[in-house]
Amino acid sequence: MVMSFTSVPGGGGVKVVVIDAGHGGHDPGNLGTRRYKTREKDIALAVALKVGNYIQQNLPDVKVVYTRKTDVFIELQERARIANAADADLFISIHCDAFTQKSVSGATSLVLGRNHGDENMRVAQQENSVILLEDNYEEKYEGFDPRKPETFIALTLYQNAFLNQSISFAQKVQDQFRERVKRKDRGVKQQPLYVTSRTAMPAVLVELGFLTNYDEEDFLNSEQGQDFMASAIFRAFKEYKDEREFFENSSVPHAPTPDPTKKEETPTQAQLDPVKQPEEKPHEVYYTVQILTSGIKKNLKPENFKGVSGVEIYEEGKLFKYIVGKTPSLGEAETLKQKMKDAGFKDAFVIALSDGTRISLEEAKELLQ
Ligand SMILES: [Zn+2]
Repeated sequence: MVMSFTSVPGGGGVKVVVIDAGHGGHDPGNLGTRRYKTREKDIALAVALKVGNYIQQNLPDVKVVYTRKTDVFIELQERARIANAADADLFISIHCDAFTQKSVSGATSLVLGRNHGDENMRVAQQENSVILLEDNYEEKYEGFDPRKPETFIALTLYQNAFLNQSISFAQKVQDQFRERVKRKDRGVKQQPLYVTSRTAMPAVLVELGFLTNYDEEDFLNSEQGQDFMASAIFRAFKEYKDEREFFENSSVPHAPTPDPTKKEETPTQAQLDPVKQPEEKPHEVYYTVQILTSGIKKNLKPENFKGVSGVEIYEEGKLFKYIVGKTPSLGEAETLKQKMKDAGFKDAFVIALSDGTRISLEEAKELLQ
């Protein structure tokens, strides 16, 4: 099964969004603690419809397409087909998480990709396994065993062109959940998810929270909880749309889809000074304040940062981290952090960098002694 996508990411704004309520029909999704009659499929649908309503009411120029609006079973391939046929600009799949330990909680946004380091493939296994409920799945998915996500890691290539945009939206969703709905933020993760692997557009799978956790199950079963989560996703969508359209309509030197593997070509001091060998250059270690994380490389002008000037950038993974200040004093950095919080960067925190790479504060303390 080889698909080729001709769409180029970006261009044309964000005009069509597909909202995909996970599971449905004879696939209930996870059952939670079983204190409620509702299962994952019911909560996913309720929140999906609310997200769609918010978008339709507030952004009339956006077309909302649902993969399902009722309690019906839809195959994973069909969900992606609907999104591709609609020529959508963004695919949002809505799910709820589950785990064997009831204490585990929090919201996660997932984008397609190889998982990095210690993260296991728990969510991918859980969400891909619905394929087993489909008829003739062996034939349709050609040897892909949903119980072993590693068997289709090659498929992640199809989404690579959209990875930065997917991460950008996912990060906004997580920010909204954490800041506005006070949910535990489990972060943006990359996993080999089938449903997002076949979409020819940025795609994010949102796990609203754990139905196996009493508090989160109560919250996600409440009308208010569903409204809060839906409006958080809506605000993230609006922010993403505004940002996409801003970048597409402006000639900002930093393009909207930066290549995170490319390093800036500024010569180092060692290269400028042929007498000095690179080894002689001491590591530059300092404290700085991180004010923002984004999947998109922003222009560093003050208008983009609540008027704060002197913002610098460093890259970590696929994300851009925006930092302010450079000092060998932890005390000074803490003072600056407070200033940034007062300026509106509520999540500002102190980090330490060594030659542009993040190190722990403990390590920095030792190196700066
Ligand atoms: Zn699910």
